[in-house]
Amino acid sequence: MTTPGFDRNVPLAEHTTIRLGGPASHFVTVTSIDQIRTCLRRAAENQWPVQILGGGSNIIFSDDGFNGLVIRIGLSGIEYTEKGDEGFLRVASGENWDDVVRFAIQKGASGIECLSGIPGLAGAVPVQNVGAYGQEVRETIISVKVLDRTTLQEREFSNEECDFSYRQSRFKQNDRERFVITEVLLRLSPNGKPAIRYDELQRHIESTSKNILNQRGPAALTAIRASVMALRKRKSMVADSADLHSRSCGSFFMNPVLTRAEFRSLQHRVNNTDLPYFPADKGVKVPAAWLVEQAGFHKGYRSGNVGVSVNHSLALVNYGGTTNELLALANAIQREVHEQFNISLQREPVIVGSTGIPVSPN
Ligand SMILES: Cc1cc2nc3c(=O)[nH]c(=O)nc-3n(C[C@H](O)[C@H](O)[C@H](O)COP(=O)(O)OP(=O)(O)OC[C@H]3O[C@@H](n4cnc5c(N)ncnc54)[C@H](O)[C@@H]3O)c2cc1C
Repeated sequence: MTTPGFDRNVPLAEHTTIRLGGPASHFVTVTSIDQIRTCLRRAAENQWPVQILGGGSNIIFSDDGFNGLVIRIGLSGIEYTEKGDEGFLRVASGENWDDVVRFAIQKGASGIECLSGIPGLAGAVPVQNVGAYGQEVRETIISVKVLDRTTLQEREFSNEECDFSYRQSRFKQNDRERFVITEVLLRLSPNGKPAIRYDELQRHIESTSKNILNQRGPAALTAIRASVMALRKRKSMVADSADLHSRSCGSFFMNPVLTRAEFRSLQHRVNNTDLPYFPADKGVKVPAAWLVEQAGFHKGYRSGNVGVSVNHSLALVNYGGTTNELLALANAIQREVHEQFNISLQREPVIVGSTGIPVSPN
């Protein structure tokens, strides 16, 4: 195995969709598990902190950058097999997630079609159990292969062992920073029927490609993908260098899940029968976007060179500012939502490095 070379002083902003962050003192792209091992050993010898990086769409580096080794995952490979009425998609963690979705759709396999257009790499999708338009990746994950950063041994976790919940998993919580995800195995449905569980998606399909309702296979899945992409583009939720409002990490805050008692208290507090909500696993989910807007941070709100997207009130956008400016805005939103509604909004993206701005854990 060749030892990959380390680049020095690499601007991290160029490796993130929000385009924020100073330089990494050392940066490497790895294309094999052995290379990851070698890099981890080198980092340990030199006492460099290590940060794993995928597509950089859910991570914000500090303005000072990262004094250590950033390992960008470049593992490739995608393989699809069918057995009876099940399809198995094995994907290396460096594959572009949206290419994986497109690949599955071309095979006519359903299960991830609503996750079209989510930026980033396949290895990151288990980290926060990505979800959109009524689908979550945990519904299809069979297992996740990892390299343990401490023992350098490979392990495999079943779906259950990943501890998935809404935008969470063991990789983001209890075992944060402990594993490098190397491969994800998904179970799909060959000649599958698309999932249309989300009102907005249903309405869009009805207005654009009604003929595919109740259909199966590649054409139906392609139509769903087209609708999802259209809806996402409208909200600047597709990472697109031509769309300034997509210089974000997607949704900055998670939708809070309230107990029924907390929800009743919120209803009472806002005295608003129009308060939107959705049933959730363990209570009631309230759209964070609604809380953010009601707290006074409407679409297009600007604070210096950062702001709330004009197309989506949950996306904080970098219009040429700094990490500190963005985190200050996030804190102001969290503070105001807490003051007005007694709800603590949880952040979705990972913040790396010392920022000088207090950030709550996510
Ligand atoms: C415009 C836009 C729209 C978005 N829409 C959605 C959406 O609809 N739904 C949704 O859930 N998310 C959404 N996101 C967030 C983001 O795209 C996802 O969380 C994505 O899975 C992150 O992938 P990434 O490769 O960019 O991860 P990165 O940002 O590179 O990393 C995120 C975290 O995962 C860790 N990580 C990454 N790869 C690995 C690995 N191989 N092993 C171990 N740890 C790893 C990193 O260390 C870091 O802690 C959106 C983001 C943007 C910019």
